[in-house]
Amino acid sequence: MGRDEFPESVKRRVADRVGLHCSNPECQRITSGPAVDPARSISVGVAAHITAAAPGGPRYRPDLSPTLRASAENAIWLCQTCSVLIDRDEVRFSESVLREWRTRAEDFAAKAIGAGARYRRIAAGEIRQELSLGALLAIKALEEEFGCHVESNVHVPAGDGWVWFDGAAVRGEDLVAIDIRENHGRGVPYFQIEHMIELCRTLKFDRFQGCVLFLVVVSDGPLEADAAVEQRVKAIAGTSSVEAYVRMFRLNDLRARFGM
Ligand SMILES: [Zn+2]
Repeated sequence: MGRDEFPESVKRRVADRVGLHCSNPECQRITSGPAVDPARSISVGVAAHITAAAPGGPRYRPDLSPTLRASAENAIWLCQTCSVLIDRDEVRFSESVLREWRTRAEDFAAKAIGAGARYRRIAAGEIRQELSLGALLAIKALEEEFGCHVESNVHVPAGDGWVWFDGAAVRGEDLVAIDIRENHGRGVPYFQIEHMIELCRTLKFDRFQGCVLFLVVVSDGPLEADAAVEQRVKAIAGTSSVEAYVRMFRLNDLRARFGM
């Protein structure tokens, strides 16, 4: 059985779509440049197969037609080093990882060229992807306090939608909603805390009578600033009819307590 190689036109298009840069986000090297001979250029770029060109190769998919296998849809532009790298470890460099690389590289090139770039995908560094270490440790501390598992990253149904909380547990008929803020020395976003209280005050949760709110602050800022932050959060909590508790943690104390 032969290899389903890319036609030259596909290779060129794939390279152009990422501005001739390697699509590995940790590499991004430019893959072409001048040779000493002014009439020549050098390329270290490769149109690599996302799923292998022939059976037995990395990430090979028997379900693809030869046409699809040799199409731009199955190609990613890489430097020579990265093209070898991805074939050495097909678990780490899975099909989905490589597709993610290609999307990011194309987004990057679209932004760089400034064409058609009114919208772009939000980048990994621009969003909070999961709970930080401080938030995870705060959840552990609350698990000890509550004596039960605290679910993290939860969507709780309410009316026609849902509300997202850092963590949640249940007390009697009530939802225990956990809101975790981190103080790195510049205070915490009080408006978000006010908003959270307002949500818990006004929303009807499908499965719960009411809402008990735990407002948690994990601090690694100057110790002397913590008291003022705590006072302010308590003041906000105190002005509402919601049953709310404030917990202040020092990140270092939590790390020592849980050995992390
Ligand atoms: Zn590379």
